Amino acid sequence: MSVDTLTIPTQRVAKSRISELDYNNIEFGKIFSDHMLVADFRDGAWQTPEIVPYGNMPLSPATSALHYGQSIFEGMKAYRSAEGEILLFRPYDNFKRLNISAQRMCMPEIPEEIFMQGLEQLIRLDAAWVPPTAGCALYLRPFMFATDDFIGVRPSSNYRFAVFTCPVGAYYGQPLNVAIEPNYVRSAEGGAGFAKAAGNYGAALLPARKMQERGYHQLIWTDACEHKYIEESGTMNVMFVIDNVLVTPAAGTTILDGITRKSVLQLARDMGIKVEERKVAVEEVITAQKAGKLQEAFGTGTAATIAQIASIHYQDTDYELPPIESRRVSNNVAAALDRIKTGQDTDPYNWVHKISL
Ligand SMILES: *Cc1c(COP(=O)(O)O)cnc(C)c1O
Repeated sequence: MSVDTLTIPTQRVAKSRISELDYNNIEFGKIFSDHMLVADFRDGAWQTPEIVPYGNMPLSPATSALHYGQSIFEGMKAYRSAEGEILLFRPYDNFKRLNISAQRMCMPEIPEEIFMQGLEQLIRLDAAWVPPTAGCALYLRPFMFATDDFIGVRPSSNYRFAVFTCPVGAYYGQPLNVAIEPNYVRSAEGGAGFAKAAGNYGAALLPARKMQERGYHQLIWTDACEHKYIEESGTMNVMFVIDNVLVTPAAGTTILDGITRKSVLQLARDMGIKVEERKVAVEEVITAQKAGKLQEAFGTGTAATIAQIASIHYQDTDYELPPIESRRVSNNVAAALDRIKTGQDTDPYNWVHKISL
């Protein structure tokens, strides 16, 4: 199979559901496009993928992913340019990261042609589902899970890789009030925090809900040893501008290596902004705030691109940050990134992958 020649057998829907979609009122993650891609790993090899109508998958109650959590995913977006083209943002990075997650979870790696040709042909078939409206996109959800119907604890022999898509509206998130998490941990050295593995998200739900019950939108994870160093903000990477330097925790085994994160860092460097990837102590951020040197704080991820942080709660105090309009670094980088993703600006980095229609 070469990247160019794989033609995926396709079973089309009898009737498209596209008329149910109201482009001006898209609720995240509830409406799914007509088709999905499915590929099975069986007898030690990936079988020919298929595109089929979006629908339920019958599962044995003993399906091993449900019991022992061999289950991983990716999240990415396709954008509609003003010229009507469909543009994927850094899809090879999602492909590579899915396989990094697969390795960590003792799952087989997915071949590039299945991932890339699968996305390409699925999006081409459901091109009408990529919203033309500014700020909207088609969210793509590739995922893989263990399908052995066997309840012994061991790596599964069979797996399913699939991709479905859903149109998403513009992200109008309000600036977040976040709180430093002093007890729970998301991830520890030697663990699987760098993988987009399902269990990481399940284990994060209770700490997040408890913070919400205390009135905060989201928590800031700290390191598992001392709760002294900042890791991530909810399911986003986190960055600070302190004294005109863009500072973010260095990616390692405990932090998910976000594609938005590395894009933001690259753009900032190329705008002449000083960037530091290193350990970031909670005390450093709080001390900077008290000295009037904490200019910006924000999360980065595919869903929001940049989610501004309005305040940080730490040890019984809410520390307020400067107004959003004053945040030069994040506002400029977010705008530049958005223009590249949607084809309004040239793409010197070769990040944008055009789908041939
Ligand atoms: C997906 C994810 C991110 C952001 O990654 P992007 O590639 O920028 O979307 C950050 N942290 C966690 C825990 C994630 O799951």
